[in-house]
Amino acid sequence: MTPLDDVRDHVMARLPVPAPVSVPFDAAAGLVLAADVAASEDVPPFDNTAVDGYAVIASDTTAAPRDLRVTGEMAAGARHVDEVSPGCAVRIMTGAPLPTGCDAVVMVEDTERTGDDGVRILRSVSPGDGIRRAGSDVRAGDVPLRAGTVVNAAVQAVLSTLNARTVSVWPRPKVGVLSTGDELVDDGSPLLPGQIRESNRTMLLRLVAEAGAEPVDLGIVRDDESVLEAALARAVGELGCDVLVTSGGVSMGDYDIVKAVLSRVADMSWFQIAMKPAKPFAFGTLRGVSGAAVPVFGLPGNPVSSLVSFELIARPALEVLMRTSSTMAGRRRIAAVIDHAVERQPDGKVHFDRCVASWGADGRVHVSRVQAQGSHQLAATALANALVEIPDGPGLPEGAGVMVTLLGAGPHLGTPA
Ligand code: AMP
Ligand code: MG
Repeated sequence: MTPLDDVRDHVMARLPVPAPVSVPFDAAAGLVLAADVAASEDVPPFDNTAVDGYAVIASDTTAAPRDLRVTGEMAAGARHVDEVSPGCAVRIMTGAPLPTGCDAVVMVEDTERTGDDGVRILRSVSPGDGIRRAGSDVRAGDVPLRAGTVVNAAVQAVLSTLNARTVSVWPRPKVGVLSTGDELVDDGSPLLPGQIRESNRTMLLRLVAEAGAEPVDLGIVRDDESVLEAALARAVGELGCDVLVTSGGVSMGDYDIVKAVLSRVADMSWFQIAMKPAKPFAFGTLRGVSGAAVPVFGLPGNPVSSLVSFELIARPALEVLMRTSSTMAGRRRIAAVIDHAVERQPDGKVHFDRCVASWGADGRVHVSRVQAQGSHQLAATALANALVEIPDGPGLPEGAGVMVTLLGAGPHLGTPA
């Protein structure tokens, strides 16, 4: 059996290096900038008011309270520019350009109106108060966003502010997902003897999307070598998949045609990983139409095994491809406390048991395993939010320190006490 970390290293060493692509900034969410983004304009583009209030000459307010005459009004977007003369003020709204002649803005809370064209300034201000200067966020010529930045919501907003209409990013891989097995049905029909309802594809397509890649549904493929071979050819050809994820057919069964076909069309390695669930696993690359290497993740068919090997190997690899991570570290892995004893037998494997993690009153994260830990028992796994590592050996006592990998959506961790 191969340790999980060695399998991850093997995968990491064989991932292709994609070429950056140019995309509209609003299609870049979750991607990583492949080039610096420079500012061609000042942000803000002009001096403006940070508050709703009155534009004044600061020296007019030194002896506040002081009554001033209101000679104009400017709102955000105002095209006209009023002037502030000594003894006067201009009513002004947040974001409006500064009137000429003023050097401070008094916030409205520090004023009271005195009739139709008068205002009483209740508190003195200094030059510059209430004003945001042109370029005080970003100066023209600055490089506010560097290559390697993940385009989160705020970064996307900065791109919009900078008028960076297109950006160079590492591409979002198209990930084809297919299930294999003669027993699988997904059309809602009554089950015939020996049939089960398909589940992995639904889950894996969603996990691919959660990882920020583009899922491509390749359907269910019967246990027939020529059908599978045609499906793979179409995936990397006409459908343009950059990555393939298959489930089923990589274990020791006699009808594991996935093994036969992938061995023929791709450069594969077959692993028995020293972990439970998800011991059988295959990884390799095949040539896409453009000649680029297409990584293939052959996940085991048992639904829980499919989930665990996706989370621990395929997802980290997608992150490396997208440059959202430079290592195969994957999901957040934290120290926690297990709330009950675990009995297990030494078998050379790390057990990744599904559990619910939540903050405890002691300020630490606590975990308890979900009831059913069989690799076909997806219903129990679906209610977990983490994987707890039970190291090889006789098990753990209640209260033992454990390492936990947090999964995506699921029960909330709660809040620390
Ligand atoms: P295999 O890895 O093909 O030997 O499958 C192992 C187990 O997982 C068998 O019980 C299969 O019926 C089941 N299985 C395989 N693929 C799927 C799938 N897409 N959805 C649900 N169960 C599956
Ligand atoms: Mg099968």
